[in-house]
Amino acid sequence: MFKNVFIHYSLSGGEFLSKINPGSNFNEDNDVQTARPGGLQDTDIMEPVIGDDGKLHCPMCSGIFKSREAYISHALSKHQTMEQAKESMEKETETMEMAKENMKQNKDDARAYLAPVPYDHGFHFFTEVGRYTGETAISLATFARDVEVAPIESINFHFGRADFQKWIAETIGDTELAAAIEKVEKNLAGEPLRLRLLKIINAHVKGLESQV
Ligand SMILES: [Zn+2]
Repeated sequence: MFKNVFIHYSLSGGEFLSKINPGSNFNEDNDVQTARPGGLQDTDIMEPVIGDDGKLHCPMCSGIFKSREAYISHALSKHQTMEQAKESMEKETETMEMAKENMKQNKDDARAYLAPVPYDHGFHFFTEVGRYTGETAISLATFARDVEVAPIESINFHFGRADFQKWIAETIGDTELAAAIEKVEKNLAGEPLRLRLLKIINAHVKGLESQV
């Protein structure tokens, strides 16, 4: 956005370079001498806008100037933060790109978490060791459904062994959901436990589905 509209003002070499409109009615030597602020080593200021009135309009504020000299003095004294502004804009672009990258990553993750796993790697619901209920979840969505209908003994059994979060973290890879289930009070059991788990799982799955 700001690219190529800067006048490069360099004091280190004692010279002033105007990238745009170099030959306009302004005396380079004079400008450098009058506009040079103390301590400023290297600053970019914005090219003024030439208005219909033939005057120079500051693009940063409402200032209007008759000469480039006056404009440059103004820009250097009032808008010395341009370099920082440019930097922060570049940083902002970087942040936006990172956010975009994150969104893509989240999308990829969400897809992976929602994908079915092979039956063998599914969550097999037992009511106790050796007693399979016949229900196996092969994805988070089918897991949510099974948690809803599984015998309550099975919910109690697996919750007591921390099996749900283990499967979700290790097989599905969704550590966030696993952590949420891990946080459920350990003394919770029965239907209140089922409801709590369902609430957590369904909200999470819904969130994942909205990202893909
Ligand atoms: Zn201004």
